Amino acid sequence: MRVSTFASLAALLLSGATEGCAIAVSCRCMPGDSCWPTTNEWNTFNATVGGNLIATVPIGSPCHDPTYDEAACTALQNSWTSPMTHLYHPSSFMQNYFTNRSCDPFTDRATPCELGNYVSFAVAVQNKQHVVSTVKFAREHNIRLVVKHTGHDYFGRSTGAGGLSIFTQGLGGISFSTFKDKYYSGRSMTIGAGVIGYDILKAADENNAVVVTGESATVGLAGGYTQGGGHSALSTAFGLAADQTLSFEVVTAKGEIVTASRTKNEDLYWALSGGGGGNYGVVTSMTVRAHDNLKVGGASFILYPTLLPADQYKQAVETLFSYLPKFADQGVMIVFAIRSNYLAVRNFMIYNSTAERAEEILAPFVADLKTIGITLNPTYSTLSYYDHYATYMGPIPAGILPIGDTQVGGQLLPKTVLETNPKAYANTILEIVSAGGGVIFSVADYSPPDDKVSNSVLPQWRTAVSQVNVLATYDPKGTVEAMETALSTITNTYMPKLKAAVPDSYAYVNEADIQEANWQKTFYGSNYAKLQAIKLKYDCEGLFYTYKGVGSEKWATSTTGRLCATR
Ligand SMILES: Cc1cc2nc3c(=O)[nH]c(=O)nc-3n(C[C@H](O)[C@H](O)[C@H](O)COP(=O)(O)OP(=O)(O)OC[C@H]3O[C@@H](n4cnc5c(N)ncnc54)[C@H](O)[C@@H]3O)c2cc1C
Repeated sequence: MRVSTFASLAALLLSGATEGCAIAVSCRCMPGDSCWPTTNEWNTFNATVGGNLIATVPIGSPCHDPTYDEAACTALQNSWTSPMTHLYHPSSFMQNYFTNRSCDPFTDRATPCELGNYVSFAVAVQNKQHVVSTVKFAREHNIRLVVKHTGHDYFGRSTGAGGLSIFTQGLGGISFSTFKDKYYSGRSMTIGAGVIGYDILKAADENNAVVVTGESATVGLAGGYTQGGGHSALSTAFGLAADQTLSFEVVTAKGEIVTASRTKNEDLYWALSGGGGGNYGVVTSMTVRAHDNLKVGGASFILYPTLLPADQYKQAVETLFSYLPKFADQGVMIVFAIRSNYLAVRNFMIYNSTAERAEEILAPFVADLKTIGITLNPTYSTLSYYDHYATYMGPIPAGILPIGDTQVGGQLLPKTVLETNPKAYANTILEIVSAGGGVIFSVADYSPPDDKVSNSVLPQWRTAVSQVNVLATYDPKGTVEAMETALSTITNTYMPKLKAAVPDSYAYVNEADIQEANWQKTFYGSNYAKLQAIKLKYDCEGLFYTYKGVGSEKWATSTTGRLCATR
């Protein structure tokens, strides 16, 4: 009932908004097509972007003839699963699966290095006029347009075969100020869209402020992270990243520079604040809330199942799950991971607090574990937010999470599920872990910071107590088939277990199963129809296609990666 109402509303809005707007092309042009720009046209375009056009040389090229370089190849192989390796490269990205191993550092050097799903060209834009020129060139020549900030996206949305990419890292600048409108009055930070999380952590600390950024310091702020919602170690204190937005500067599909805020182009502001990355325009700068740099109380601990009787460990996990809603209610944000050989609470954090308060909140849990025979000795600290981040989520910038060896699924876990039957959910997770999976929890109170916030964050965040990430790892040196097997495990084994535990299941658009069939409802929920109408208003021809982004059902990629309109 709920879904059919949603579908018919979407259809209604779509039919109204499409009037006078039809996708004029059948397919995007690819290299080798007669419609692909000539060398002269590329050269002329390059002059309009300050000579910053880069023809893609895939990152894996030193590992293949005729450009084989043994030392460079070995260095690349050794650092392949570090985010730092791909972060600064104009065309590389972190979700290995989407490379299709077309120029892989681990395949034989005689295997040709091909562009495959890498973009054909990137523009390392240095200012907003470069963005305008690139948007106009892509539109005029019917080329697939891509935006890359950090390349973190699990859905491969920062790449695309035959694409022209806007690589945003040259859009710098961080400043702190105050902002006032009728919805918010207080400290603010303005950044260029190319600024990355670790730079913001440092600049905020130097300006005696804190800002909501990801738990991984190499994630960006203005791109997919904030535009998709964005959870943070500061979420219990201040909400999601999308709740922090005050104003965006955006280049639209027409190549116009506009402001989107609560008072100008409000619909675009609403969509950019949670409605999915890269889908409505290119953000060139953004102003967000900044908060006082107060001390934080922290804790961490680890349980090793191999050192405990199975039943004791199971009870400990069930007990932890029963406490999660209470922790969030008391101002805590927690990141923890479960694998077959550990349960690690890496980050237990309370903003504007102390080690003593962290110990006080954990005390009943520690006492309960004692009654089942487990002595837990967490470490506690009182630190600045920056030092806490470096200690519990660092090292800054790289962090400890490898990339490019994992397929991911996800679910927003409703608080009521843990309040009513924490044991059942804990046992679902233990089943996934015993089947070889890993699970990461980002536990917080995800309610908005105040009742004036209005944005397109999936409403189910507000009643969730955790973002849950299930992981199926594969050998990054292995085959495409191994990646496919891991993906199948996510879709066909782990996700059905999670969905059975939470019948009406929703997911965070940035950390979800890429094969989710019912994605419009699962990622965007009741916001989908309104987002679709805004998409049509600002980008009716679908220049900003993103995989499983709003409106993307009108497009499909062929086996060669060519993007074609389907209707
Ligand atoms: C190791 C790791 C840790 C993570 N940790 C967290 C976390 O703590 N919290 C969390 O919420 N998420 C986290 N994520 C998920 C993260 O939010 C998404 O991967 C997100 O898409 C990253 O955004 P990005 O702009 O940095 O990445 P990119 O891959 O560069 O871009 C992602 C999307 O945003 C678009 N985009 C980028 N810049 C712009 C722009 N200026 N204008 C318009 N569109 C743009 C791109 O086109 C693409 O569609 C993590 C992911 C990984 C791999």
